Amino acid sequence: MNARYTFNVSRFDPTTGDPPRYQAYAVDVPQGMTVLEALLRIQAEQDGSLAFRYACRGAVCGSCAMVIEGQVRLACRTQVRSLEGNRITVDPLPHLPRIKDLVVDMDPFFETLRAIQPWLQPGHSEPEREHQVDPADWSEAEPYTNCILCASCHGVCPVVESDPAYLGPAALAKHYRFLADVRDVADAARVALVNDEHGVWGCDMVWNCTRVCPRGVTPTQGIGKTRARIRRAERAQRA
Ligand code: SF4
Repeated sequence: MNARYTFNVSRFDPTTGDPPRYQAYAVDVPQGMTVLEALLRIQAEQDGSLAFRYACRGAVCGSCAMVIEGQVRLACRTQVRSLEGNRITVDPLPHLPRIKDLVVDMDPFFETLRAIQPWLQPGHSEPEREHQVDPADWSEAEPYTNCILCASCHGVCPVVESDPAYLGPAALAKHYRFLADVRDVADAARVALVNDEHGVWGCDMVWNCTRVCPRGVTPTQGIGKTRARIRRAERAQRA
């Protein structure tokens, strides 16, 4: 049986000059309907001007991160009837410039990733076969490869909010993924990219990023491990 929900969706159109406002839409929600499906139904049946971003609908692409009932979540894997009450508030992902309604500009987020050089630097030319890694060696880097670049962690990080130059949890987790990769030999140069207050030393260790990550990535832990490597290297230099 369907249950009637009201979706209060934050609307914003920069061409009007008006401030953001909420618009209410009533939707009959069957069991299993996700917030993304509800938004698609609103767009198809009530308001074709409603803008939001999505692609895979299966929690793989990371495109539909938004604030649902005060928490950053992927709309495609949030079932409406799992939420409390029948009034659902939907806002765009914080800490990124807003383009329209629930669509934010992801460029600043991707810039942070480019800044940490997210590619393998093996220190030699292309091998004839793939670089093989012993599973025991790979286990340290592997959890950090699960990131889907949804920017949920970016949207809940208090340091991102207060310091626009901070690299942020996703970039620093990706950075550790390459630092921990045994095939990569660019450790010293990599560390130099994040060894300041806008890098690993800027993190306040509040763990919001880790709590919100839909893929189980632990940016705070990666940041802590990078700090530990830096301290070890400094101690070794002094000895
Ligand atoms: Fe999203 Fe997690 Fe990657 Fe952050 S670390 S961008 S929350 S998948």
